[in-house]
Amino acid sequence: MKAVVFDEFGGSDVLQLRDLPDPRPGPGEVTLDILASALNHLDVDVREGVSRFPVEPPFVLGVEVVGRISSVGEGVTDWEVGERVMPYLMDTCGHCVYCKTGRESLCLAAGFISFSTSGGYAEKLACSTRHLVRVPDELSDEAAAATQIAFGTAWHMLFTRGRLGPGETLMINSVGSGIGSAAVQLGKLAGAFVIANASSDEKLARASELGMDVGINHQTQDVVAEVMRVTEGHGVEVVFEHVGGELFQKGLDSLAKDGRLVICGGHSGEVVPFDIIPFFRGQKQVIGSFVYNRSEVEKVLDLAARGLIQPLVHTTFPLDQAREAMEMMERREHFGKIVLKP
Ligand SMILES: [Zn+2]
Repeated sequence: MKAVVFDEFGGSDVLQLRDLPDPRPGPGEVTLDILASALNHLDVDVREGVSRFPVEPPFVLGVEVVGRISSVGEGVTDWEVGERVMPYLMDTCGHCVYCKTGRESLCLAAGFISFSTSGGYAEKLACSTRHLVRVPDELSDEAAAATQIAFGTAWHMLFTRGRLGPGETLMINSVGSGIGSAAVQLGKLAGAFVIANASSDEKLARASELGMDVGINHQTQDVVAEVMRVTEGHGVEVVFEHVGGELFQKGLDSLAKDGRLVICGGHSGEVVPFDIIPFFRGQKQVIGSFVYNRSEVEKVLDLAARGLIQPLVHTTFPLDQAREAMEMMERREHFGKIVLKP
């Protein structure tokens, strides 16, 4: 099979298209013919060697895959050749206290697709059937590949961790991102009033088309002052935060009393000052969130199949242009997912 491999950490120039042996399914595994594979910023961190995941080159990137089962290994009875599936991101143990209660994102011994298997920047992939989720017929390969991480992460943050309810006010930091635009759609679907910020008016215009109620340009406007003006001094019940740095504190300062800030990332500043006094006097909460559970993937796929949310695909590239695809993502020119098609 053809695969995009890197032998050393670095910039996009370390990527090489190469022939690798076809994967074979071990016991309890299937092989997939990959139909579409979405890019994620995690891929850049892994390629550069700064992901804090245990990665040993040579390595094939790609954690968000849609494929068709091309062969099944020994002992596989519930899955057939020809079924269209996506691997759930995590390779869970299946028997810890969290797996047993449907909270796989907390699994004590979790692996990740591409770290514990080969990756999605390839023509084929072998993985355990524990990963597999069926893809509804209504969704194209590209749309399905653009659904899992953006909407699964946003669902987990908003509802499971943040407990967002109808009629509450939500603020989304950096709405131009994949999870930000997913959060707009899910927030509106749940009946929230959605405020969001971004670094440009163009990104805010796109978010408006998805249903955002109020946009704030965080480069030219005072985020906290605008939130307080729009909410008449009340603040927001939930902040959707994945940026870190200054936007983390601005999120905290935008919260209403008893408000919840849910955070799943901190690229713009992973260690931040934290003003304790207004935090406890306002009885606020900071809630960590990491990936999502399998049942949440199934929910967002169902919503997409019914047309209630729109997976956003910016563009597709053939596998042999993976370098160009990654460079486009790193320039942050896209709105929606960039997808590789083998
Ligand atoms: Zn587990």
